[in-house]
Amino acid sequence: MANRNEQCSDELLSAALYYASRDWAVLPLWGIVHGVCECKKRKDCPTPGKHPRIMGGVHIATTDERKIRRWCKQWPNMNIGIATGKKSGIAVLDFDPRNGGMESMERLVQVHGKLPVDLRVATGGGGYHLYVAYPIQKIRKSSGEPGFDLQADGKYVVAPPSLHISGKRYEWTSDPLPLVVPELPPKWLEWIQVQGPCYTSYTSDTSYSSYSSDSSHSSERIDCEVAGGQASSVLPLREYVAEKLSSTLPTGISQRHKKIFRFLHLLKSHPDLKDEPVEAIRPFVEQWHEKALPFIGTKPFTDTWNEALLSWDRVDDRKWITEKLLNEELRGPMPPIINRLGYASDPITVALVCLCRGLQKYHGENPFFLSSRIAGERIGTDHMTASRRLKMLQADGVIELVSEGNLRYGQASEYFYTGDEIEENAPLPAGVGQ
Ligand SMILES: [Zn+2]
Repeated sequence: MANRNEQCSDELLSAALYYASRDWAVLPLWGIVHGVCECKKRKDCPTPGKHPRIMGGVHIATTDERKIRRWCKQWPNMNIGIATGKKSGIAVLDFDPRNGGMESMERLVQVHGKLPVDLRVATGGGGYHLYVAYPIQKIRKSSGEPGFDLQADGKYVVAPPSLHISGKRYEWTSDPLPLVVPELPPKWLEWIQVQGPCYTSYTSDTSYSSYSSDSSHSSERIDCEVAGGQASSVLPLREYVAEKLSSTLPTGISQRHKKIFRFLHLLKSHPDLKDEPVEAIRPFVEQWHEKALPFIGTKPFTDTWNEALLSWDRVDDRKWITEKLLNEELRGPMPPIINRLGYASDPITVALVCLCRGLQKYHGENPFFLSSRIAGERIGTDHMTASRRLKMLQADGVIELVSEGNLRYGQASEYFYTGDEIEENAPLPAGVGQ
């Protein structure tokens, strides 16, 4: 068994590096071990072997060979995903037989003509992934066709030779693979493209590519590019609130505090609410509280409302936020990584790890910005020391650099905290200890 896993790891690594050489960005997914997902949920995992192994998921998909090698070494059983959309220049038509995808495919082919199958993956579950060149225009988020999805911006697909929960591996149906990614036939393209208004997409990588420096809010950009990239729009208040409300509801106990804070922050980011007094948001906080009730331990509305009263005026103040997040993190149990990497005797590093962890929890699936100046101020040291410590955390695999800022101009770099993914028994990243 161990042998087979190791072998697969080699195979997986070469596949990952091959994808990267085609400029397809890859990301590590949880693997399947002994017939269940490797993640903590094991047999109860709703998406076994299919969800990202690191915080930030598809946003840190990369073509960087060094990172890919490190992931494969760290997680020998991992599955592999390929980011779709502009990031990799591909879109993937996804036909899932469990929901009638095969029937949909037949019907659609009759209407729109044949699909190119040069780059086709047989998923371990009996379905197919068809890779096509990324069309320039925005594409439909969902087609309404049962069992059919188009994976593009902000999404990813599980790629060969990942192991499916069925015990079968994802496989390319041809070998070798053609060098050119086929175009979607015009009739299909026409059907798939959206002509309507541009939609706000939290996961769209148009917002990803337009992060500006040192702004923790930019990952929440609410404008988006339409074809050609000239127009941008902000959602009307009601829709905006509804969307943000559902995206910030707690999913389990002891998340209330962070989630309501996040919700308030998002409300503050809307131009119609930015300068409003706190009373203006009371109805929204009420709605949030009502919907969150099943998942929170602190039931009285007054607790939540009090937090809103206390935070509303400062919720968009970066300094205040980072301080708050750091303090909260320092009060909680220490992340295991602190002892594991021998940081415990160094209060500055402990504080920095906690700061990064707090920022990551706050930003959820998105990367966070941190300049060494701000980091230094928060953890009580100068910016050069902070910068060196940040580099060390990177080398130790505790944080991932997403984009580099500029120290001279005080520009922040963009990171993901990945420290919680380094497990007790996992091999240490290269160059650490032992
Ligand atoms: Zn899982």
